[in-house]
Amino acid sequence: MSKETENRGRGPAFSAIPVHPEKTSGKEGDIMYIYADNAATTKIAPVALEAMNRCMEEAYGNPSSLHSAGQKAAEVLQKAREDIAKAIGADFREIYFTSGGTEADNQAIRSTAFFGAKKGKKHIISSAIEHHAVLHTLQKLEKEGFEVTYLPVDKNGFIDLKELEAAIREDTALVTIMYANNEIGTIQPVDEIARICREKKVIFHTDAVQATGYVPIDVHKQQIDMLSMSAHKFHGPRGVGALYVRKGVPLFSMIEGGAQERGRRAGTENLPAIVGMAAALKAAVSSMEEASAKLVSLRDQLIEGLSKIPHACLNGDEKKRLPGNVNFCFEGIEGESLLLLLDARGVAASSGSACTSGSLDPSHVLLALGLPHEVAHGSLRLSISEENTSEEMEHIVKSVTEVVTYLRDISPVWEQLEKGEKDYVIQ
Ligand SMILES: *Cc1c(COP(=O)(O)O)cnc(C)c1O
Repeated sequence: MSKETENRGRGPAFSAIPVHPEKTSGKEGDIMYIYADNAATTKIAPVALEAMNRCMEEAYGNPSSLHSAGQKAAEVLQKAREDIAKAIGADFREIYFTSGGTEADNQAIRSTAFFGAKKGKKHIISSAIEHHAVLHTLQKLEKEGFEVTYLPVDKNGFIDLKELEAAIREDTALVTIMYANNEIGTIQPVDEIARICREKKVIFHTDAVQATGYVPIDVHKQQIDMLSMSAHKFHGPRGVGALYVRKGVPLFSMIEGGAQERGRRAGTENLPAIVGMAAALKAAVSSMEEASAKLVSLRDQLIEGLSKIPHACLNGDEKKRLPGNVNFCFEGIEGESLLLLLDARGVAASSGSACTSGSLDPSHVLLALGLPHEVAHGSLRLSISEENTSEEMEHIVKSVTEVVTYLRDISPVWEQLEKGEKDYVIQ
């Protein structure tokens, strides 16, 4: 009888789960390290790194200075602004650099709320599955007297366009709905949302932090009024992002100081980061078609492999999802344990449980899909990049399958489920 079978029922000894070589005091193993958490952040692209280094060495002046070192920096800044505008179909005058996606979301929402309130419009529409950068900004505005309608989503994470239309009122100042969800990858019908908002003359902002660089965006053609992006989600550096604001839409400044960003965002520009963002976005957009095809094939390989695990379900839409996003729930499994054991096996992933925010509540996104608490706790998000390979996907499927089996073997909940004392939620 093998050790594996001997332990059946009680689960294999913990040591049966192989660990990543880096964690075994330098002992060589045959386990690879696979980074599959690109929705959290990405590895910097070599072109971006190179552009940043060059910028720091050659364009070190302050773009506001009148001397030639300053003017050289101003030129570099202008070129980056033009490149970023072009990548999303905007005019360079419509791009405002920020410290990232969070700041862009805050500014878009707060600014529109401010100008709306001046006209007596204190109603905002959003969705139940927004990123906290949007949700927490809205919650604060609610405390300040604004009313927010959070549109529910269906089981795949889509808002209902008819519900959106019905929710728009005379006093609606803003509709803010994310382009693509960071947890489940669902891509909203942005063109239709924008068309409805334009018809009803309501400003439409979209948090496109997960979508930028991964799906084709043309803000003018799509009639988007405001859009947030963040460099570190598309292989650019951290701490830099941009807000696109359509010409004619007013924007107020949240940070007072110098006249940078046409007076809408004070503070000396983070030029190396801005240049890195432009280089990363340009590269992402120019290789989008082939990159997307590769990601979709790797993603679907993962989805197919993980679907074979009993009592597992895919979260989000099968097709209308980000090319690199996979999100599953496994019945009877707790997300954190799954992540830690996967990490020990060389797989870096993420879970919907918001342990990072210091709370044990499952993700608001998974709950909004209608998943029960105990199921939402067992979620796994794998977000892949172009650097990943099919061999790695095979390793991930194998590792997840083994870890899920192991965790179920040692789980009292699973025993109850198997004995029929509790009902499976995921069939
Ligand atoms: C990461 C992320 C943000 C926040 O961007 P930062 O640049 O990290 O501040 C906002 N919205 C979504 C959807 C994100 O994925």
